[in-house]
Amino acid sequence: MAEWRHSDPGRPRQHHRVALLDLSPSQLQDLVLSIGEPSYRADQVYRWLYSSLVTNFEAMSNLPQTVRQRLSEIADLQNLVPVTSTLSSDGLARKVLFALPDGETIESVLMLYHERQTVCLSTQVGCPVGCVFCATGQSGFVRNLSAGEMVAQVLYFARQLKAEGRRITNLVFMGMGEPLLNYDATWQAVRTLTNPRGLNLGARRITISTVGVVPAIKRLKHEDSQVGLAVSLHAPTDGLRQSLIPLAGKYPLHELISACRDYVNYTGRRVTFEYALISGLNDSMEHAAQVAGLLKGLLCHVNLIPLNPSTDSAWQASSAERVRAFQRELRKRGVNATTRLRRGLDIEAGCGQLRSGHVSAMGAQDCVGRR
Ligand code: SAH
Ligand code: SF4
Repeated sequence: MAEWRHSDPGRPRQHHRVALLDLSPSQLQDLVLSIGEPSYRADQVYRWLYSSLVTNFEAMSNLPQTVRQRLSEIADLQNLVPVTSTLSSDGLARKVLFALPDGETIESVLMLYHERQTVCLSTQVGCPVGCVFCATGQSGFVRNLSAGEMVAQVLYFARQLKAEGRRITNLVFMGMGEPLLNYDATWQAVRTLTNPRGLNLGARRITISTVGVVPAIKRLKHEDSQVGLAVSLHAPTDGLRQSLIPLAGKYPLHELISACRDYVNYTGRRVTFEYALISGLNDSMEHAAQVAGLLKGLLCHVNLIPLNPSTDSAWQASSAERVRAFQRELRKRGVNATTRLRRGLDIEAGCGQLRSGHVSAMGAQDCVGRR
């Protein structure tokens, strides 16, 4: 594992400038008009931000100097400050801890596959859901991220890849936080990231992962978008699921699966179900049979993830043999199932291991020392 520290960013100061990455194209136009500039300036700024990927107003060379100066006074480019970057030993996963202007921290991961570059981004600082196996959930909840703070994570990696002659191909909302409990900002970020005049990421290559916030799934199906939905299932019965996911008490399985069926019928897209296999807890052949029963007739795919145990977790991942048997059982019963590659595990970049709550509590230096 390679690790390095960026120059100490200090604590960025609070300010009240307009957060540029939060804005839709029409809001950007309003901003430009408000300083007495013609509306085409908004297009120019948009291209500088999302095509040229600049990090300062000075670089916007087709804007008059006075306009660059004025914009820098009233608007903020929301560049994220990287505190630490960690590279997995195989070089295929890069995790970055970012400092936010209010001193909070979040983590994002870039995963490099064959001809595929995927960014895993965070939507909240911590998470209010508190799943018992998830380091983020156990670290508590601080606040929602803004759309711009989500977009900024993607821009950071987009710049890095551009310098290497590559580009981001896929996005997964699977970092810290529950995206559907921060719906508006998450959706605003999706709009910005898919805008053809900007980063132009394909909606079909974006996946939003949710613990199963039923009203938000119902809302999502109306968005008229090809964005993929992944639902964290983890258990085939309400009792077991509620013992792992506190919020599951509010949305019982029959409601959740029914919302997923509606989603599939409405969008024509299959749903992915994520299932973390925990040794001796949810990984028996009976559990597999129950999962198959629950998902019967639903256009879906099950992604099996051997648990990424956090240091203070009481549970272990199911053995490789058990994972294979579980997958075989699902397939035998007609459910499409694969096992997720455990990329980035040595840098704690696996699912549920992003734990900035702990990081900010003990300071980044400590955290780097511990890993
Ligand atoms: N809040 C959303 C998205 C972020 S979590 C959700 O829960 O879906 C992304 C995925 O990582 C979820 O499927 C989550 O259940 C899974 N996950 C969390 N902790 C994990 C762990 N320790 N091992 C394996 N998967 C985990
Ligand atoms: Fe939140 Fe998802 Fe972690 Fe559960 S698994 S605590 S919903 S981030």
